[in-house]
Amino acid sequence: MNLSIAGTTRLNDGRDMPMFGLGVWKASDEDAADAVEHALRSGYRHVDTAALYRNERGVGEGLRRSGVAREDVWITTKLWNDDIRSGEARAGLEKCLGKLGLEYVDLFLLHWPVTGGLAAWKELEKLRNEGLARSIGVSNYQVGHLEELMEHAAVAPAVNQIEWHPYLQQDALVARCRALGIAVEGWSPLMQGRFGEEPTFAEIGKAHRKTGAQVLIRWALQRDVITIPKSVTPSRIEENCTVFDFALSEDEMKTIDALDRDYRFGPDPNNFDF
Ligand code: NAD
Repeated sequence: MNLSIAGTTRLNDGRDMPMFGLGVWKASDEDAADAVEHALRSGYRHVDTAALYRNERGVGEGLRRSGVAREDVWITTKLWNDDIRSGEARAGLEKCLGKLGLEYVDLFLLHWPVTGGLAAWKELEKLRNEGLARSIGVSNYQVGHLEELMEHAAVAPAVNQIEWHPYLQQDALVARCRALGIAVEGWSPLMQGRFGEEPTFAEIGKAHRKTGAQVLIRWALQRDVITIPKSVTPSRIEENCTVFDFALSEDEMKTIDALDRDYRFGPDPNNFDF
């Protein structure tokens, strides 16, 4: 496996998406700007935001302050559920682009599988053809949601961004995505910061002189899952990207695989009310 900080995976639309990026959920505009600037200067080439996070202005500012060229950075944002329900995909993307200060995003996702998703997807297909979103995908889609979408879609989602970490590996969903040619991106890869409650990661890390966080990020990458650990702390931003100078053994991978327990830190996509 040849992984590097800007290493990419080829999507079903022919575009190359960095496997590793920075998440910015719960960061203010100001914190997101500082975090994105620091991450890009540290070598990150991918940032994950969303209309819901209300920090797209900060993400755009951080990108510009970093001095890294726009075309060298992958920016993902997501259409919020209200805009999906009300059929406002185009206006939703225009709002995102305005806040980001960008002419296009690299990936535009439907944030959750809510009513109106099929019509919104048709709009996303048009927005992709116009180049406003270079790739399009979904988030939190379960197998049934994907099947329904694929029946109506002209363009298959390039990515499904789902909750994914050792306690929630969703093997059947991941296998289905892969069979459909949809890349899997995992959110909350650090178990929303609670990975320290599980001693296995730090124990495995000892032999490699790596932290539990680094072990978790490396495990995701070796499982071929696009990963977007969040931090606004400069030292952690650096720590989280120092995962390309070691590899987990097959046994270590299996030890982490065995922690799967169908445990969610986030809402269940089959049963949520927002
Ligand atoms: P995460 O699993 O990335 O954990 C982040 C938290 O872990 C931080 O707030 C911090 O407290 C801690 N942390 C980070 N680095 C650390 C380190 N090196 N050592 C110790 N602690 C550390 O959680 P997340 O933010 O929920 O998920 C990552 C990203 O995924 C989000 O920021 C967002 O971009 C995306 N996301 C998407 C959805 C969706 O519905 N599509 C939902 C949740 C998150």
